Parts: sequence; structure tokens; C-alpha cells
Amino acid sequence: MSLPLPSATFPDGHAVPALGLGTWHMGENRTEVLSEVRALQTGIDCGMTLIDTAEMYAGGGAEEITGEAIMGRRDEVFIVSKVMPSNASYQGTIAACEASLQRLGTDHVDLYLLHWPGRHPLGRTVEAFEELRKSGKIVRWGVSNFDTVAMRQLSALPDGGNCAANQVLYNLSTRGIEFDLMPWMTENAMPLMAYSPLDEGRLLRHPGLGNLARQIGVTPAQLALAFLLARDNVIPIPKSSSPERVRQNRASADIRLTEDQIRELDQIFPPPRSREPLAMI
Ligand code: NDP
Repeated sequence: MSLPLPSATFPDGHAVPALGLGTWHMGENRTEVLSEVRALQTGIDCGMTLIDTAEMYAGGGAEEITGEAIMGRRDEVFIVSKVMPSNASYQGTIAACEASLQRLGTDHVDLYLLHWPGRHPLGRTVEAFEELRKSGKIVRWGVSNFDTVAMRQLSALPDGGNCAANQVLYNLSTRGIEFDLMPWMTENAMPLMAYSPLDEGRLLRHPGLGNLARQIGVTPAQLALAFLLARDNVIPIPKSSSPERVRQNRASADIRLTEDQIRELDQIFPPPRSREPLAMI
């Protein structure tokens, strides 16, 4: 019997399970479609109802896989998608969102993000987000790959304070955000979505993580996710195309790390001692 998933809360008070499902690289290969859809459905079945996707992934293919996985159960899930910076003009953002809705087979996304800062004036992107919100095509909006300086600049724009989340690279081997961005997000009551929580799989080959995981009796992936789940308002979004590995990831929420185990992780993967440039993939 699994423990309930921890939850994360958006500034508007809406709560979501703090462990989601990534979709990058899904939809790239037709032979994988069935297992990708099954993996997402397995995640939803075991409570990982937040799905992260983007118009960029497989040129819209990941949104189509997501659409297939959520068919007939739209109300159970919380969909996050993203506009590419090159599309993030006022009109471009609205058109990109409408195309995403088509591929997802839904009339709204729950959270719509600017994928990373780009050349279009941010104020115009925010205006488009607000227009999409008013028309009900998105419920809330946020950003991705924004450092603390960029978050401050965003909040100074008209309606910039309506930003609901920031999605950044965060895992045991990339902890720079703990120094300044994470405290800023906490102060502003904004969830932090942790992308590549397994460092795209690289972390799983780390000998130190492997040893500690063996001692605790869990897998390296579960230990890496448990570390993130122990933090307030952090939403890791591991991607797996395997239903079995999705179940394994879900079980990471049952792990309660002791202070000694957390200290050991800090020794293997030291937290930042000073400000670091935001890491990105
Ligand atoms: P992850 O850190 O989630 O790692 C994914 C890799 O780990 C895959 O190769 C997967 O393989 C493997 N894996 C997953 N679970 C397990 C497990 N239990 N045991 C062993 N291997 C496992 O990388 P991602 O880069 O995919 O990040 C997650 C999500 O974050 C993305 O899918 C995307 O939605 C989002 N993202 C956002 C970015 C942004 O700029 N905003 C940038 C990058 C990612 P398999 O599928 O075979 O299980």
C-alpha cells in the first residue's frame, strides 16, 4: 500500500501531486507509441496525474501521445505544456497554444509555460498568456529556465506577478538553484518544477548514489527522486516510457530519508556555497 503523494500548491491555491510525468523524447518513434501511452496511463493510475509536455518535443508528437493517454479521462489530469521562445510573440503564443490544444485533444491546459527566455519582448508574451487565461484556454501560466534575476524582472512587468511556476533543471548533481532561486520561489509561494530529476538517466550510474541506494534498499532512481520529494513545493517530473519504471518512480514517495541519509547525500553531492549561473539542458 503506497503512501499518498505529497502535494504542491500554486499561488492561486490549486494543489497538485508533487510527482509528475515527463514526456521529452516521447512521440519520436512510432514503434514506441504503445509503451509510451501505457507508461503515462500507468502513472495516472497510480496518482501521478501531472503531465509535462511541450510543443517542441518530437515536433508536437509528445503532445499527441499525451492526448492519447488522457483520452476519456481529461478531468483526472493536470496538463503542463510550453510555447517555444521563437513562437512567443503575442499572436505566436496564442497560435501555438491553440495548436497544442488540438494535439492534446483538450480545450484547456492547466499550466502554460514559456520554455526559456527568448528574443520576443517578455511583456508581450505575458499579455498573450493573460488573454489565453481570460478565454479559458489556459488556467494559469509560468516560465521555464528563468534564473532569479529573470524572475525579478518578470515580476516587475504588468501582470508579471501572475506567474504561477518556474520549471528548471534540478537534481542531485545540479543543485545550484538551492542558493538563490529556490528561496526566491519559496518567498513568492511558487512551485518549482524540477526537470531532468534523474539527470536524463546519468545519475543512475553514479557509484556513490548506487552504494547508498543499496544500503537503504531502494533503487538509485528512487533515492534521487526521494531527495527532491523531501523539499516543499518541488515537483519532479521524471520521464519513463516503461510502466514498470513509472511504478518504481511512484514508490519513491514512500521513502522517508533520515537526517543521516540526507547528510550523506550532501557529502556525495555538495549543496552550493555561492551563487551559480542557472544550469540548463
Ligand atoms: P529524466 O531525468 O527524467 O531521465 C529520463 C531517463 O531516465 C530516461 O532515459 C528514462 O528511461 C530513465 N528512467 C526513468 N525512470 C527510471 C528508473 N526508475 N530507472 C531507470 N531509468 C529510469 O530526464 P528528462 O530530461 O526526460 O526530464 C524529465 C522531463 O522534464 C522531460 O521528459 C520533460 O518533460 C521535462 N524537461 C523540461 C526541460 C525544460 O527546458 N523545461 C528540459 C528537459 C526536460 P526510460 O524511458 O527507458 O525508462
